[in-house]
Amino acid sequence: MSLDDKFAMIHGMAKNLQPYGPKYAGQVKGNPRLCIPTLSLSDGPAGVGNGAKNVTQFPAPIALGATFNRDLARQYGEAIAREGRQKGAHVLLGPGIDVIRDPRWGRSFENFGEDPELVGDLGAEVIQGIQSNHSLATAKHLAVYTQETGRNTDDSDARIDIRAMHEVYLLPYQKAVEANVSSVMCSYNKINGVHACNNSYLMRQVLKGQMGFEGFVVSDWFGTHASHSSANAGLDLQMPDTCLFEKRLRHALKEGNFSTQRLDDMVSRILKAMFKAKLFEGKTIGDENAVVNRPEHAQLALDIAASGIVLLKNKGNILPLDPEKVRSIAVIGEGAAKKVLSSGGGSAHVIADRVVTPLAGISGRAKKAGIRVKYHDGNFHFGAADLAEESDVAIVVLRRYQTESKDERHIGLRHRDRRLIEMVLQRNPRTIVVLGSGAPLEPSFDLGIAGLFMSWYPGEAYGTALAQLIFGDRNPAGRLPVTIPKHADDLPAADPDRFPGGNHSEGLLVGYKHYDAHRLEVAYPFGFGLSYTNFVYSDLKIGAADQQGRIPVEFSLQNTGAREGTAVAQLYVDPAKTGDLAPRSLKDFRAVSLQPGESKRVQLQLSKLDLAYFDKQAQRWFQPARERQIWVADSSRDLRLHGKIIAPKERWIGRAVPPRPADAPVGDASAQEETGDRHHCPNSGFMAWGLGIASHFGLAEKPAAWEKPTDEHPQQ
Ligand code: BGC
Repeated sequence: MSLDDKFAMIHGMAKNLQPYGPKYAGQVKGNPRLCIPTLSLSDGPAGVGNGAKNVTQFPAPIALGATFNRDLARQYGEAIAREGRQKGAHVLLGPGIDVIRDPRWGRSFENFGEDPELVGDLGAEVIQGIQSNHSLATAKHLAVYTQETGRNTDDSDARIDIRAMHEVYLLPYQKAVEANVSSVMCSYNKINGVHACNNSYLMRQVLKGQMGFEGFVVSDWFGTHASHSSANAGLDLQMPDTCLFEKRLRHALKEGNFSTQRLDDMVSRILKAMFKAKLFEGKTIGDENAVVNRPEHAQLALDIAASGIVLLKNKGNILPLDPEKVRSIAVIGEGAAKKVLSSGGGSAHVIADRVVTPLAGISGRAKKAGIRVKYHDGNFHFGAADLAEESDVAIVVLRRYQTESKDERHIGLRHRDRRLIEMVLQRNPRTIVVLGSGAPLEPSFDLGIAGLFMSWYPGEAYGTALAQLIFGDRNPAGRLPVTIPKHADDLPAADPDRFPGGNHSEGLLVGYKHYDAHRLEVAYPFGFGLSYTNFVYSDLKIGAADQQGRIPVEFSLQNTGAREGTAVAQLYVDPAKTGDLAPRSLKDFRAVSLQPGESKRVQLQLSKLDLAYFDKQAQRWFQPARERQIWVADSSRDLRLHGKIIAPKERWIGRAVPPRPADAPVGDASAQEETGDRHHCPNSGFMAWGLGIASHFGLAEKPAAWEKPTDEHPQQ
């Protein structure tokens, strides 16, 4: 390869001030002379995005997180990549494996939950699914990307203790690397004062050094803030534009600030990933206009939606609805028909051909049972309340739009939604609320309602999935991947200095670990979700460690109720380090389906990292020798079995983070370099700045999600 050939491979081909591609989210120009195909990159985490049509709108990743189901995660990755490839995209910009630190984060819905094990394990399955289809997965966004406010500017700086960084936010990347992920995207924020895409500790020392990542690091869009400093810090591909890794890097090469060895490393990392996905073996063909949403994918979207909707409340067993007793249903709310919200906003947004609205799903199913359904959009509260009164049951479907680029200020319901629930409830206590939101809301409205579903953004099969659960055709299997606190003030990052201030001083105490450590009551705990049947756990047995240090934990799980159901067994362990405040953390989980009366032996496992903590001084994981407590649980607050592990051997695990290589930059780019870069690449600077400004306004909701719900709405 000539120098020109090499330089052409390390940046996108978007023109000046062009936000994308020109098609897909971005492209790297091919080289016909060398038979290198053009590399097309498409979002993303919830299905093929970037305005693609005739694709499947899958449930949002948070809904997948709520399934706690590895098989579904694998299939999700396979299906999305299959569609992406047929559309001509080689790199899928997903999965998002950021840990949800605060439900006000606008991109919560793009990720799997608040626990690093859950996020990492499901992420690894999605990655393997994607890459089984000649596609490259991109784990994003490295790292500690927890807010939108001030994104890509100096205002978004995650200040965090190194141990918490590794144990909470980097652990999912460790799992992604073990799953052989082809690429990793560096994030918009700074970490301890250094931009992620310019951060040699993260990219060079941890990701490539300690974790042994062999793929390439791609910048988030306009997230490259320097030329040679970024390249020397470990960034391999600038996206989606050109200047910093073209003109400026050539200049740095001449000046001796950047080496041909590093250039070769960047190019070969990208090429190797392309070879691995067999892009040189004729597997590059795809067509952006292809129709790729097939029936199997629609079925999978339905299965995941139905498995991910969480039933939180079921007073007096109002659910599933009994057609003997319920003869009429009032379906209320814009979210049920007029403005259905089935996919979140921003780059993860997926356009559906057709969304089954909650109203259509419920009416279709009710009709079969001879139940009358009437609809009110809820805009005139008295009308909605009248309808509720004359119906046996009222189902209120609420929606809350969340998007990339904007954080929420509150986790409460909008005043008008709250008022609507109160008025409906006054006239009919048999009220069921369905909450369609990217992350949980503070449930102070829940006081008197009879039923509550958290439906997330469930994708195109919304109405069908919901109706199956409401009528008991399926048993709810979803569990909360994020704790719902009693009050917004209880959130781990409630202090504005933390969110959106960026001070991660809560350290390891993210999610349920915070509520447990501070003994706070919560509304609904992590891992919780109701079923229409009951599960009994018994007979715990802890096996001996194998050669790799894995310890099997076995127990019996029985469905003691009268209908088939899915339990999510969860394995928690006490803290690895004396003095740590969180009493326990999740280490393994499994969704287990059981017929009525059926009992199964279930095996969970503790892997080598599960009994270790990250030692800051040694910059390495350490397993102490002491007896450990374990619990098998039905949620983080419903511990069913308890056991002990006899002190394992003290040992270091994996590699230590290597010291900073001599040619890696210290801290951020030098002022001189940044000034030069800005001067010579003004457009990149302008686009980066624009993202920060946009975070104050957010991105508008795309009407496409509800524009064409083709199921006819039954008449009022
Ligand atoms: C997002 C990425 C996304 C990229 C390309 C950025 O704004 O942060 O997650 O992959 O755009 O669309």
